[in-house]
Amino acid sequence: MSEDRFPALPPDADELASAWAGAAWDPRIDAALRAMHDEVAAEVAARRPTCLPSGRCCRFEEYGHRLYVTGIEAAWCLRGAGRTPTRADVSAAVARGDCPFLEQGLCGVHAWRPIGCRTFYCDGASDGWQQALTERLVARIRALHDEHGIPYRYGEWRAMLAYFAA
Ligand code: SF4
Repeated sequence: MSEDRFPALPPDADELASAWAGAAWDPRIDAALRAMHDEVAAEVAARRPTCLPSGRCCRFEEYGHRLYVTGIEAAWCLRGAGRTPTRADVSAAVARGDCPFLEQGLCGVHAWRPIGCRTFYCDGASDGWQQALTERLVARIRALHDEHGIPYRYGEWRAMLAYFAA
């Protein structure tokens, strides 16, 4: 039997997941997130980083990369995915060291992927601007949580997905 690698959750996990899932359908939040994604797309188009479609950035342990998201971002992605990874899916992704949405080397939720997936490029030359861009947008998402009275949490991707799978 495979080891259970499901992340530990706080006692108020259900309550938090419910608040984030509701927020993901709020048109104001949807518009704000989409505007941020457009900003990322514009900056990426201007910077033209090299992307080798290897899926390395989604195989976290192998590549030594960590993806962090806020509660709203995780919920918005799941809204778009139209499915929520099960407890077994999340546990298996942690055990493999990758993302539950990685499908044959490609992203299964491309249009709905979090900001961290949009700003990260492994070409080394992108380190400076991608970090600055990510920090700027995470601050904006934090402000979005505050503005709408939604509890803020910022955590590792699979740990945040676990809130919804539980
Ligand atoms: S959401 Fe998509 S791009 Fe982001 S880590 Fe998962 S598979 Fe990769």
